[in-house]
Amino acid sequence: MTTLTRTGRTPGIPAFVPPGAAAGPTAAELIRRERTYGARNYDPLPVVISHGEGSWLVDVEGRRHLDLMSAYSAVSFGHGHPKIVAALTEQAHRLAVTSRAYFNDRLPLLLERLVAMTGLDRALPVNTGLEAVETAIKAARKWGHKVKGIPEGRARIIACRGNFHGRSITITGLSTEAQYRDGFGPFPAGLDTIPFGDPAALAAAIGPDTAAFLVEPVQGEAGIVVPPDGYLAHCAEICHRRRVLLICDEVQTGLGRTGHTLGWQHDGAMPDGVILGKALGGGLLPVSAFVATDEVMQVFNPGDHGSTFGGNPLAASVALAAIGVLEDERLVMRSRELGAWLLDELRAIASPLVVDVRGRGLFIGIEVDAARVTAREVVDRLLARGILSKDTHGTVVRIAPPLNVPREALVWAVGEIRAVLSEIEGETRAAARA
Ligand SMILES: *Cc1c(COP(=O)(O)O)cnc(C)c1O
Repeated sequence: MTTLTRTGRTPGIPAFVPPGAAAGPTAAELIRRERTYGARNYDPLPVVISHGEGSWLVDVEGRRHLDLMSAYSAVSFGHGHPKIVAALTEQAHRLAVTSRAYFNDRLPLLLERLVAMTGLDRALPVNTGLEAVETAIKAARKWGHKVKGIPEGRARIIACRGNFHGRSITITGLSTEAQYRDGFGPFPAGLDTIPFGDPAALAAAIGPDTAAFLVEPVQGEAGIVVPPDGYLAHCAEICHRRRVLLICDEVQTGLGRTGHTLGWQHDGAMPDGVILGKALGGGLLPVSAFVATDEVMQVFNPGDHGSTFGGNPLAASVALAAIGVLEDERLVMRSRELGAWLLDELRAIASPLVVDVRGRGLFIGIEVDAARVTAREVVDRLLARGILSKDTHGTVVRIAPPLNVPREALVWAVGEIRAVLSEIEGETRAAARA
């Protein structure tokens, strides 16, 4: 049994000596500058990262942290994966950006790969997750008007309460999070929301003008909310019968995160469109895509939609390398097996502070009892022990490491999580006695 401390060694994990760690400004000074000169749209944990390697991040003071967050799945294949970095640097030296005014010699290979991976017909590459979601919404609306025959300007999109699809104006208009909407209206018309995990609510919400149902296979930002088994299959059946597109937002669940290549595969529910992002960029670049059936994608004619950087050869090379790593390292199976094991381990902690541990694959949420502790408190204490996680929605601690995280690192992390929970429990009990 190996033991691992934040500064210690574990077989297979080299001790990390950050080059020139002490050279720059101190952590406190960097945090001060960011707080002084940056917009206040984020509230980061007080740790300043300067290096990353695999599942490990090193801060400017040379402390090593286990990354249980993977930048919201953007780093599903670990930090600085040698094969993905090699693809990036080789391609950067050769050709990086051409725009879509010309063909390039990398994009066709990526498109073919995306189509093979999803079982759909055509892919449209863009850059960030929200751009791909916007692309899907544009495609769905135009399909609704031109193919389904919805009167022009009347197409409606249904999404789920608690969704997270990004932060553009339209997507914010779909959000049910008061803070995300506050002050940002007016929002576009034609957007509806229904409860997540409830096929009957979908059936009831569909009207003659409904073009698409947009859904996350597992809701990430809502707190790793897992729907009942069979949910998406049921939704697919309803959508098919009512001539409504089923579009899965796999920006966070895609590429192995839930123990399937794509999250919808858990139910075998074939969607009409899939949105990919985050992990598709191999932890190095923003790369996203909307992948759909011919019937949907044929609504786009030259000039209808596009992005200057979308499908650039640098991004295509990196995405191809990322998909290669997913397959070569058998990370889908690894996520499924390691995730099932981790879920059991975390459930076995059985702390009275924890009300639920849930997840699929290496996509796990620990929900704490809001009356007794905040998720942020747990996250702060894990940080002090060299573990980076993140609270979401006040009560959920998100556990989503790189899919190739060493098992022994997770064994260590489970011990630290157990220690943090019993530490807080002990203190609350002592405070209650006093
Ligand atoms: C992160 C996320 C997005 C938005 O991606 P960005 O790259 O941040 O624009 C969209 N959908 C889901 C499910 C996400 O998790």
